[in-house]
Amino acid sequence: MGAAVSVDSPVIITIDGPAGTGKSTVSQMLAARLGLDFLDTGAMYRAAAAILIDRNIDRQETGELISAVLGADLHFDWSQDPPTILAWDNPIDHRIRQADVTAVVSFVASIADLRHHMVRKQRVIGSQHPRLVTEGRDQGSVVFPDAAVKFYLDANPEVRARRRVHQLAKRGDVVDLQEMCERIVKRDRMDSTRSDGPLMCPEDAIRVDTSTLSLEEVVDTLERYSRERIASMLDGP
Ligand code: C5P
Repeated sequence: MGAAVSVDSPVIITIDGPAGTGKSTVSQMLAARLGLDFLDTGAMYRAAAAILIDRNIDRQETGELISAVLGADLHFDWSQDPPTILAWDNPIDHRIRQADVTAVVSFVASIADLRHHMVRKQRVIGSQHPRLVTEGRDQGSVVFPDAAVKFYLDANPEVRARRRVHQLAKRGDVVDLQEMCERIVKRDRMDSTRSDGPLMCPEDAIRVDTSTLSLEEVVDTLERYSRERIASMLDGP
């Protein structure tokens, strides 16, 4: 493993892309290699989706949902590795990964006022943790447009579905590959067609197709690009 990047100035690295590209694991590994903090913004939208379900809030009552999310004071416990998310001061990491949450999260993430709240919160986190690898759908395009390094991870839907099925199997959940592929394609469509903060590859992002790469190969690629970019940033124009 290389050394932590030795700059005192902020270093924000954004990693966006669709479900199943390995963003979360890759981001955590990259953050560890570079000595940066790690932010999982999907956890924040998942937390909002869990609140919708667990508080029996009607999908049309977006004002009620936003009030509940504000009241929950979503925040991360940064003493954990990776940081865990809390609502009303209770850890909810386990809850937010459950299938019913995954099924509604893209709908919840399409609510514009909720997104504005999350974007503000993520920027506050970025100011408190200015040396950060942050992953999601809109991190390079909307939340941190001036990030030092931006990546967009992609992979073909079947490969992504296979990875997800494998991941769930390790947890003891059996899901049909075809069904998972359909779910992933549906979630991609919802995430990339919403009007506010849609999933997209920012113009200045480095696109990496992970379909045929191992986890190590992806992280090696991202680490190499990040170190080069940060070094050239320090050298100045
Ligand atoms: O990355 P993960 O699968 O946990 O994200 C769950 C969902 O949260 C995504 O499908 C997307 O709808 C939403 N999301 C988002 N913007 C982000 C992160 C996640 O809309 N920055």
